[in-house]
Amino acid sequence: MNNLEDIVSLCKRRGFIFPGSDIYGGFAGTWDFGPLGVMLKKNLMDAWWHFFVETRDDMYGVDAAILMNPRTWDASGHTATFADPLVECKECKSRFRADKIADGITESVTTEEFLNTHTKCPVCGKENWGPIRKFNMMFTTHVGAVLPDDDAEIAAKNIAYLRPETAQGIFTNFKNVVDTIYPSIPFGIAQQGKSFRNEISPRDFILRDRECSQMEIEYFVHPDTWEENFDKMLKLNHEFLESICGLSHDKIHDYDVPAEDRAHYSKRTIDFMYEYPNGEEELMGLAYRTDFDLSNIARESGKSMEYRDKNTGETFVPHVIEPSIGVERLFLAVLSSAYVVEQVDGKDETRTVLKLPTNLAPYKFCVSPLLKNKPELVAKAREVYDLLKQKYTFVTWDDSGNIGKRYRKQDEIGTPKCVVIDFDTLEDGTVTVRDRDTTKQVRIKIEEL
Ligand SMILES: [Zn+2]
Repeated sequence: MNNLEDIVSLCKRRGFIFPGSDIYGGFAGTWDFGPLGVMLKKNLMDAWWHFFVETRDDMYGVDAAILMNPRTWDASGHTATFADPLVECKECKSRFRADKIADGITESVTTEEFLNTHTKCPVCGKENWGPIRKFNMMFTTHVGAVLPDDDAEIAAKNIAYLRPETAQGIFTNFKNVVDTIYPSIPFGIAQQGKSFRNEISPRDFILRDRECSQMEIEYFVHPDTWEENFDKMLKLNHEFLESICGLSHDKIHDYDVPAEDRAHYSKRTIDFMYEYPNGEEELMGLAYRTDFDLSNIARESGKSMEYRDKNTGETFVPHVIEPSIGVERLFLAVLSSAYVVEQVDGKDETRTVLKLPTNLAPYKFCVSPLLKNKPELVAKAREVYDLLKQKYTFVTWDDSGNIGKRYRKQDEIGTPKCVVIDFDTLEDGTVTVRDRDTTKQVRIKIEEL
């Protein structure tokens, strides 16, 4: 089992992920994707979109604004209930999420229950706690011309939130989609985009950050068919995680969330738990949200959210099955599943390899001349590079250091094939192709690449 620190270090060393605002000493709970990270992240998001939207007849996409009318969050219940139990140490003034520092309690913990756990402050070691307070995790901002010296009343009128989930951008467009596309039920609306949560204590690298990218689908069904559609979505999401993302079936555990731990809108939730290097953590969630959201929107907006079945003529408010996955969580699962340190065949050394599925690897090929000081080799290698770049797009060039060092570097960023041009290439038009996973080399003709 690899550990999280090794992966964080690889991410920084090879340009996958940097701490946010690194140059100013960072900014808690934020991370920046570097050149390689952007490629892997985009591949993951594209693979998801292709699998769940483009290849299906029953899925449609939206891309809603991050800033939404605040009534959205009143209707959805976020203003009232999207809160974590905050507890403050009276000795050192450190603040924590109560359910994260004490064992055997949930988000709905009371002050008494927390005190009974006799938890010591993780910072100063004392046991002197204030009461549990509910801390709303939505980021607030002000929309329009609000000045710092405006009174609280003016400021409050102009308050807006950075969306805490992408789902509401889908629900609020339900009627628009139905009235323009006339989809047959069951159908889904998908969205990818940023969402924001003011985590009390961000931690565990990109697993618990304050700004993340989500990929969500609201799958609208007839209320009588929610169970079969829930099962279909469950299977479909396993297929995506295992066949497309290369995650091992044995490391994904379905956890049927008991009623008291479910989000306020859900009647059934399955958390897909993944065995991350630092332990089991939630990778994604599948929730049956009933007609909670559409009915709330109907009440808040005064507009009907009913759907009329074209075949039966029946009119009803659809129920919803929601698969929701955080891109960063998926990113880390894929990275840690691909990360391998292994013995080099016949040698007393190890190598670090990212055994990423080819469809996700940032680069598919690396092209290099055996020697960089031989102009004829470099010219030929450039020719091969241009050819592959045209054909496969995701091709990189490397003529630094010696060939062994180049292989190590490409192994670490997960490039499946390294193509090397040597003197034989000039004679017979063949190149060496070295495989990332087996390290075996074969000679093949340039045309066969
Ligand atoms: Zn303390």
